[in-house]
Amino acid sequence: MARYAATIKAVHADGTECTHKRTSTGKATTAECTGRDGYTARCSGNGCTWTSRNTQKTVLETQRAQHLRTHLNPPAPNRPA
Ligand SMILES: [Zn+2]
Ligand SMILES: [Zn+2]
Repeated sequence: MARYAATIKAVHADGTECTHKRTSTGKATTAECTGRDGYTARCSGNGCTWTSRNTQKTVLETQRAQHLRTHLNPPAPNRPA
């Protein structure tokens, strides 16, 4: 059971989260949506402030996997859990 997870969200160019519905081709269906500019990922780990942003979701998924791995294998475990 994983103790850490990081959620990936779609965001607009100004950084706000995009929760708007899109057509199957990725176009916005509402004028409120300024367009998806990319994605952000944020770690939900306790005390972890890791975030990342990228225009490609696949890149972000790779970065997220790499980050989560650091929780499993801390590079410098000098703090008591
Ligand atoms: Zn939107
Ligand atoms: Zn983390």
